[in-house]
Amino acid sequence: MRKQNCWEFKQCKREPGGSNVSKLGVCPATTEVRANGFNGGKNGGRVCWTIAGTLNRAKVQSTSSPKKSSCQKCNFFKKVQTEDGLDFSDIK
Ligand code: SF4
Repeated sequence: MRKQNCWEFKQCKREPGGSNVSKLGVCPATTEVRANGFNGGKNGGRVCWTIAGTLNRAKVQSTSSPKKSSCQKCNFFKKVQTEDGLDFSDIK
């Protein structure tokens, strides 16, 4: 079964061609080819918590700590954690 990417689950519309791209830009998770296939996702779609700049355009990540704590509360992170057996230590 095909696994959902974050933009499909969250309906952020920030994938290439998405309706929010003109306003918010393409999210780096959708184009990060180095993460393609991780946890069964397309590009960074199932490891978005590891990719800088995915919270929003106003909050560029300078350290991993703020992102780490907010991602641990995210329902998509919890979904991937359940489906793929992630440990919180997978967040860098
Ligand atoms: S990480 Fe990016 S693509 Fe994924 S849900 Fe958040 S804004 Fe959308």
